[in-house]
Amino acid sequence: MFGIFGSPDAAGMTYYGLHSMQHRGQEGCGIVTADDSGRLCCIKGEGLVHEVFDESRISRLKGSMAIGHVRYATTGAGVIENVQPFMFRHGTGDFALAHNGNLVNYAQLRSRLESTGSLFQTSSDSEILAHLIKKVPDRRKQPRIYSLIEALQQIEGAFAFLVMTSNRIYACRDSNGLRPLSLGLLQNGGYVVASETCVFDVIGATFLRDVEPGEIVTIDRHGLRSNFFCEKCRHAMCAMEYVYFSRPDSDIEGRNVHSYRKESGKLLFDEAPADADIVVGVPDSSLSAAMGYAEASGLPYEMGLIKSKYVGRTFIAPSQELRDKGVRMKLSAVKSVVKDKRVVLIDDSIVRGTTSMRIVRMLREAGASQVHVRIASAPLRFPCFYGVDIKSREELISAHHPVEEVRAMIGADSLCFLSEDGMKAAGCLSDLCLACFDGKYPTALHGANNKIIKRSLCAEL
Ligand code: AMP
Ligand code: SF4
Repeated sequence: MFGIFGSPDAAGMTYYGLHSMQHRGQEGCGIVTADDSGRLCCIKGEGLVHEVFDESRISRLKGSMAIGHVRYATTGAGVIENVQPFMFRHGTGDFALAHNGNLVNYAQLRSRLESTGSLFQTSSDSEILAHLIKKVPDRRKQPRIYSLIEALQQIEGAFAFLVMTSNRIYACRDSNGLRPLSLGLLQNGGYVVASETCVFDVIGATFLRDVEPGEIVTIDRHGLRSNFFCEKCRHAMCAMEYVYFSRPDSDIEGRNVHSYRKESGKLLFDEAPADADIVVGVPDSSLSAAMGYAEASGLPYEMGLIKSKYVGRTFIAPSQELRDKGVRMKLSAVKSVVKDKRVVLIDDSIVRGTTSMRIVRMLREAGASQVHVRIASAPLRFPCFYGVDIKSREELISAHHPVEEVRAMIGADSLCFLSEDGMKAAGCLSDLCLACFDGKYPTALHGANNKIIKRSLCAEL
């Protein structure tokens, strides 16, 4: 998610911003700009940023202000209607919004709104915010931000939202700070806001600060202003942002992602050393942890696996069948490196176990004499309701099998996971959400019939 205010080439900058966050979603993308008369213009499509946008499309998006989004579907089908940003024409002024995360009380809010006449254009949870903003009674004398505050107070879950009107951008983060959102300064004095700080280097901006949990930052010609929409806020950043999702050159809440992963690799060695000859990481997200493990163990860090640059992230492909094909296309073992070697294989996580199973087999076929698997995070045992594609317990191998059984299933000589304490100790400066590891969800969850499932019961989901 990306927003920019005060740039002569807002659409072009948004293109580069989205491009550098392509790893966050590959299903679709879009850009909305506001021109000098305040009219919003939107172009979006299914596919990668460079497939959806070319120079002629970018040149049609006029104005010095824009928001953009890359889509990674967790709620709502992967169809064009659900590609963001969503743009709305309204008598009180056009507006657009983009959302990163997932709302846990979406179904309840949607049925309430539909029963009072709202017509939804999409099956995405993100659209709900627009309806809630416009349902707030229009109290003419009160600043517009109050509609946004009242709307945000009704939604629960994980969200970073960008809302753009004809003359300003609002950047908001949920009260647990589950999803990242950072502010940057352009050389010309304009502002950017992005899900990941790696974007700032790409477009020549400097990091200013993170949007705080529960905060709405208003960006307009007066500069930045801050409001809070809730009183009880805490930091519970998604641990998977550090473990897997974000780019290594991004900083999340003051902690660089590569450094976090490297430290987690060192701690993994402390917790689970292996008698081996070389350390091999699964490219790309595990390489930093593999470096840390190698450094701590004194074993050589080797390039035992090569990844094709031209295949997207396996996981984001929608079906298991496509995922299976993806894994085969994506990785190859380097025979001359692994032959007759006892390999420590480092991966960032085990979800279904498919990747580890395949890679262990691949390494053995390439001649490795032993394969010791070390995972730089704890066993994933619970679903994520906050916008990361870990949908159900059924698909999580560690939800149903103890470590020794998982080891046997993936065919490794040994298998160890980093502990939850190790994950915390890897040096995040704030608390983490570890709900998919420990079942302790930072928000209430809503089950069928509007029943709230209490957090303490979540371990039994
Ligand atoms: P699996 O093959 O199902 O065990 O998936 C494990 C691989 O998926 C690991 O190598 C991770 O890098 C990657 N991964 C972990 N979590 C996610 C996620 N939420 N979305 C996409 N990929 C993931
Ligand atoms: Fe991240 Fe897991 Fe929490 Fe979801 S449940 S927000 S993936 S740590």
